[in-house]
Order: sequence, then C-alpha cells, then structure tokens
Amino acid sequence: MRYYDKLIFELSKPGRTGYSLPASKYPELQLPASLSRETPADLPQVSEVDVVRHYTNLSQMNFGVDTGFYPLGSCTMKYNPKINEEVAAMSGFNSLHPLQPESSIQGALEVYYETEKALATITGLDRFTFQPCAGAHGELTGLMIMRQYHISRGDLKRTKVIVPDSAHGTNPASAAVCGLEVIVVKSKENGLVDVEDLKPLLNDEIAGIMMTNPNTLGLFEREIGEIAALVHECGALLYYDGANFNPLLGRVRPGDMGFDIMHLNLHKTFSTPHGGGGPGSGPVGIKEKLLPHIPVPYVAKNEDGTFSIVKNSADSAGTVSGFLGNFGVILRALSYILMLGKQNILMAGPLATLSANYIKESLKDCYKLPIDTVCKHEFVFDGLINDGADKTEDGHGATTLDVAKRILDYGFHAPTIYFPLLFHQALMIEPTETESKETLDEFIDAMRKIAAEAAEDPALLKSAPHNAPIKRPDDTTAARQPILKYKDSK
Ligand SMILES: *Cc1c(COP(=O)(O)O)cnc(C)c1O
Repeated sequence: MRYYDKLIFELSKPGRTGYSLPASKYPELQLPASLSRETPADLPQVSEVDVVRHYTNLSQMNFGVDTGFYPLGSCTMKYNPKINEEVAAMSGFNSLHPLQPESSIQGALEVYYETEKALATITGLDRFTFQPCAGAHGELTGLMIMRQYHISRGDLKRTKVIVPDSAHGTNPASAAVCGLEVIVVKSKENGLVDVEDLKPLLNDEIAGIMMTNPNTLGLFEREIGEIAALVHECGALLYYDGANFNPLLGRVRPGDMGFDIMHLNLHKTFSTPHGGGGPGSGPVGIKEKLLPHIPVPYVAKNEDGTFSIVKNSADSAGTVSGFLGNFGVILRALSYILMLGKQNILMAGPLATLSANYIKESLKDCYKLPIDTVCKHEFVFDGLINDGADKTEDGHGATTLDVAKRILDYGFHAPTIYFPLLFHQALMIEPTETESKETLDEFIDAMRKIAAEAAEDPALLKSAPHNAPIKRPDDTTAARQPILKYKDSK
C-alpha cells in the first residue's frame, strides 16, 4: 500500500487546473471591488487526476467496520447494515427542515414516536427523549433529570452520585459536569460492586447511583435487585448506563431491574455508524414518574392520531440540544430494529456473548485472564503471560500497548487498552455478533502469533506497527493539540 504524506496544497503547481468553464457571456458584470479579495485565495492548483488519487488514497488509509474486524471493547463496533443508509437517504426524510410546520412532518414525528415505543418495550422504561447526541450527553441529560426530580420535591441536600470504580470514564465526568459530587463504590475481587461497601455510602445526600450492567468487565451485576432496593430505600434514583446494551437486547430490561433513568447509544447497540466524532444519538429513557422533568421539545401523540411537538413544560430539566436530536441516526436505528424484528433481535446478545467467550477461551493460555468466568459481550485480559522480559536488556517485556500496535500489522483494529482501570495492562475485547467464526479464528491466530513473537523477540512488538502510516504518536498531544489546519510554510 502507498501512503500519501503530502497535503493537497503541497501537490500544487502554478497554472495546473482540474476544470474548465466556458467564457462568461457577461464579461461586463464584475463583482464590486468592495466584495472582492485584495489578493487571490491561496488554493491548491491541481489536476483532476491529482485530486482523485489524493482523496481516494486518503480514504483507503482509514480503518472502519467496513474494512476489517474492530474488536474495540466497550464500543460495540458491529456491522452497520446498508439498508439503514438507504432508509436515511430517502428524500422524504433527508430533505426535511426542522422549522417546517408540524402538519408537514407528521411522518418524521411518527418515526420518533415509533422509535420511542420500540425502545420503551426493549428497556422497560416508559418514555424516551432523543435530544442527547452522544452517550455521555445522555448521561448528563439523565443526571439533570435526576437532579430536577429531587429539586422539585424540595429535597435539596441530594448533591452526590455514587459511581463504581469499574465505571466508564464518562460517568464520573458527566456527574461532575452536572455539578454533582462523585462518590466511588469499590468492586470486589470477582469484579462486581461490593454491596457491603455500598451500604454505608447511602444517606440523604445521595441523588443516585450510576451503574452499567453487565459492567465494563462484561460481568452481570447479580446483586442488582438488592442494590436497587437499598438505593430506593434511601430516597435516591438508579441510573443505568446502557451504552453497551447489546448483550441484554430483548432478554433483560433495566426497567425491571429497578432502574429509573437510562441512556442507550444508538451508535453502538442499534448499529448506527460511529467513531470519528459523530453524529450520534444517546436517547434517555425514564420511568413515568419522571415525565414532568423530560427535556423539551419532545414528540407526543394526540388523541386524533396526529403528532405534535411539546415545546414547554414547567418542571422540565431543560433543553440539551437544538430541536429533537439527530434524526438521521434515529431513523437508522428504527430501520435496524424493524429489519431484525422481535425474533432476531433476541439473537444479538447470545451471539455476541458466544463470540466473546470463544475468543477468551482460545487465548487465555497466552494472555492473563484476571477474572476467569463466563463473560457477556466482552472481557478483559491483563497483558501477556510471557512478555519476553528476559530477552530485553532493561528487563521490560512487551506491554499491552505493544500488542495493540502489533495487531495493526495483522490488519485488525486494536482492542481497547488500559481501560477499565482495575488492571494495569487491560486489553478489552468485544467482537460483537456480526463477525463470522472465520474472522474470529483469524484474529485468534494473529493474537497467538503475537504472543509467540513477544516471548521470542519482544523488540519486534516494541517497534510496531511496521506498516502503518503513523506509528506511535504521543497520545495526549495528538488528542489535545491536534493539527487540523494547513500551515503555509512559505
Ligand atoms: C461509549 C460509552 C459511553 C459514552 O458514549 P459516547 O457516545 O462516546 O459519549 C458511556 N458509557 C459506556 C459504558 C460506553 O461504552
């Protein structure tokens, strides 16, 4: 593969061009000088073939679910069926404007309504808001609803939220953004929330608890019934992080487990594309008693069967985005739900669980498995069993980062690494239900080869990737100070 390290500006040659226009029929009509640039814009001067090759090659440097296996734990990189794209591209949908009169967008409002009904059935919650545009945005929205619930009851002391130490990083971050204080509850050796550690934390200052179930270790919190009873007894609410709802889809409902509020990531569980920054959708579900606090606007069905947009509600938690949320994403999710139907949706969880356990069992003699039990949709290794440390001068063997870099050379996306924080060398693998056994076997084979390479020659891993355009950027600088603009070096 050839990589293109030049920018389109650097391919520029004076006078080269990729278009030709007929001479103007109205040469006398010129833009007024006041509207014209003083100096011409510095645009790249390139031919058509330069442009086509440049962008086609750039597009091929990208890695996505459409190009290969993407076992990124806690991200549910399942295949995005193309029928979703066809539905979202229908002109009756994609030409809508959010300010059109309600009477002219009844079909779109029905899409919201039907999606809400489907999600309510799947989760056991009563109502959903589609305003949030990401999972973390949903968490913030859910916590705002939680806070508004306590405020409206005059229960002003409840300013703390309990979050397990295994939680996704967005949970404590969302609580902090919402102005709530985060209290951490510990996990036991077996990876589950320690109920004995939770009990003394519960008092009249607790607004709620945020939980993920199965948690980020892919383990089902079996004591959720007791936890829900304890939390409700102290007057607090339960928030469910349903970003990775895949394993439970159609099998277990957060509403039945005792949760009052939850979010779903349509861009994970419901097969809408993600990665690279959006657009996403993190709808928030609530129990009926919280309806007065749902964000506005939202869609309601009238008695005569038409739909309208509710714009005001006195006790609403507020508004968290423009209009009704990312419509195109919601449409894709509804397409996915209807395409699978009740029977097939029930198979997503078991197949995702089978794939995860198959990989785990096939690799646990090469990679450390800190919690050796049947997992749900994902699981966590804690680095290599033999990291080849005895072969290096400094005594440092191959790390999880080195494994993640080396797997790129084999044509796979890396698993999630160094998360959750409970283990030092975490390597979190989530294959999803959409991969064939052949693909899983190829991945297992590559991971076994890497383990053998580490034992023999850890330097090979430490210098990986060997055939990627970018090798080892400083992650922090790359994330915080990305260079997104062309700087003219002239
Ligand atoms: C992905 C994820 C989130 C955050 O979702 P975004 O859409 O990235 O904001 C929250 N919690 C869990 C468990 C997740 O996996």
